[in-house]
Amino acid sequence: MLSLGIESSADKLGVGIIDNDGKILANIRRTYKPPLGSGIHPREASEFHAKNIPDVINEALNISKLTMDDIDIVSFTKGPGLGPCLRVGAVAARTLALKYEKPLVGVNHPIAHVEIGRLVGNMVDPVVLYVSGGNTQIIAFSEGRYRVFGETIDIPVGNCLDVFGRNAGLSDKKAPMGRVIELLAEKGTKYIPIPYVIKGMDVSFSGILTHISKLIKKKEYTLEDLSYSLQETVFAMLVEVTERALAHTKKNEVLVCGGVASNNRLKEMLKVMAESHESRFFGLEPSLAIDNGLMIAWLGLIMYSRGYSTPLKETIVDQHYRVEDVVVNWRNEN
Ligand code: AMP
Ligand code: MG
Repeated sequence: MLSLGIESSADKLGVGIIDNDGKILANIRRTYKPPLGSGIHPREASEFHAKNIPDVINEALNISKLTMDDIDIVSFTKGPGLGPCLRVGAVAARTLALKYEKPLVGVNHPIAHVEIGRLVGNMVDPVVLYVSGGNTQIIAFSEGRYRVFGETIDIPVGNCLDVFGRNAGLSDKKAPMGRVIELLAEKGTKYIPIPYVIKGMDVSFSGILTHISKLIKKKEYTLEDLSYSLQETVFAMLVEVTERALAHTKKNEVLVCGGVASNNRLKEMLKVMAESHESRFFGLEPSLAIDNGLMIAWLGLIMYSRGYSTPLKETIVDQHYRVEDVVVNWRNEN
């Protein structure tokens, strides 16, 4: 069985093709780049997706030497994400499904991150730290659903890094902003105390961003030291909450996914934490950690195999689709 998945929830447009053994046949991605110094403009990103999606679909089919006739399922991101961007993926999926008479599966984006991590990392039941430009959540499976054990109460950690970088005048033309900051942080030597904000199991980054943005303007500290201090602080917060979720659930695997999961320092900190609890750690490589069409194809295939498909009338997107909203019938354990 072959599944083609379309991801378009934010600035990335991805199309992936996977078979039911988890063999990766294609994983093509293009990224909308806003003008220097600006964030993602949802309408402009959606126009980028609409313009590029025919090419990206064709590229994925060509690289895997397949045609639409070979595809069994069309999957797309139902949410969460930016409305105009999500709608482009949903319209493309509906068009393919109608034209080629294929079943449709609308999937939850964070659960797709988790499931591709379980597949590639060979994990059974991990505590998952999902950290990206649009999301920050600690997710684990419990009693038939994925549950959020902790999350940001304001901005996502990737957004905190991206805005810090833009405020510092850094460019993300050659590498993602988080990577640019990571390289600077590796050269930092001095830890500058900045607020460390955990509320219960939730984290908050907007006050930290305001604080560090003021420090940039003061010009008292180097960007290397500021990057280092920001990373050490926000990553320690994330590791602390992940650790508490791990201790509470008594699981023995830790998975990190989302674009920020590409960060080596974050992976190092999580690994030390996991191993101190006799747990296995796995971090996805960037092509699968960052938003991609393959994870959407894989979750669509899993759900379809368990009898699920989305009737055409229900293929509307949901910007606030939560992981708890999905009944998980493809996992047996609690
Ligand atoms: P996503 O939202 O999953 O597509 O991931 C995009 C986010 O990942 C952006 O906030 C990037 O700055 C961030 N990112 C990418 N690479 C890295 C890295 N090496 N370290 C930290 N953040 C990163
Ligand atoms: Mg994501």
